[in-house]
Amino acid sequence: MSLYPSADFLTSAAQSSQFPEDSGAEVAFAGRSNSGKSSAINAILGRRGLARSSKTPGRTRLLNFFQLVPGRRIVDLPGYGYAAASAAEKATWAPMIDALAQRQCLRGLFVVIDSRRGVMEGDWGLLEWAESARLPVHVLLSKSDKLKRAEAREALKAAKAALSVRAGVHLFSVEDGTGIDEARAKMDEWLAQTVVA
Ligand code: GDP
Repeated sequence: MSLYPSADFLTSAAQSSQFPEDSGAEVAFAGRSNSGKSSAINAILGRRGLARSSKTPGRTRLLNFFQLVPGRRIVDLPGYGYAAASAAEKATWAPMIDALAQRQCLRGLFVVIDSRRGVMEGDWGLLEWAESARLPVHVLLSKSDKLKRAEAREALKAAKAALSVRAGVHLFSVEDGTGIDEARAKMDEWLAQTVVA
């Protein structure tokens, strides 16, 4: 089960021309603002504070790329569903996300969803985008430590029913460690895949 102690911020992109070269393997992370996405990235990579780079002023609306090891990256998508983005931002966002889906190196998408809220309306656009791009999806039901055991079971059941066969899903907490190993295993599986050109 690999950690990535030398993971580091690589670059931010405001448009697809600023993406890193389309080679190697990449995994994307998305989620509503405050879903726990940054905490999840840090915990999965074993790099405290890493995803804070995505929250520095000027970067919150960008796609932020991190290199784990040469040729292996994650891309942190802007948090959605919170402050309304300006029309201009939205106009640049859609083509950039579409361009991301075109990348040969993109292997999978983690969607971080607060386990207390479950799958919400704003999440569907992203899930549909992934489905149309035939991108494998894994949902992390975050902050599960905040739920009682029975509530967590219910949250998992409800998310599985909502997502049907479209995505893998499991409970996740950076507080008590639930699901971190499972998420790492999924990420390693995705990143290990290579495409024969
Ligand atoms: P982001 O905006 O989606 O990147 O969310 P953050 O990672 O910044 O987390 C938002 C808030 O939720 C912060 O106050 C975190 O400390 C808290 N949080 C994140 N993950 C967990 C978790 O697993 N358990 C608990 N109890 N709180 C969490």
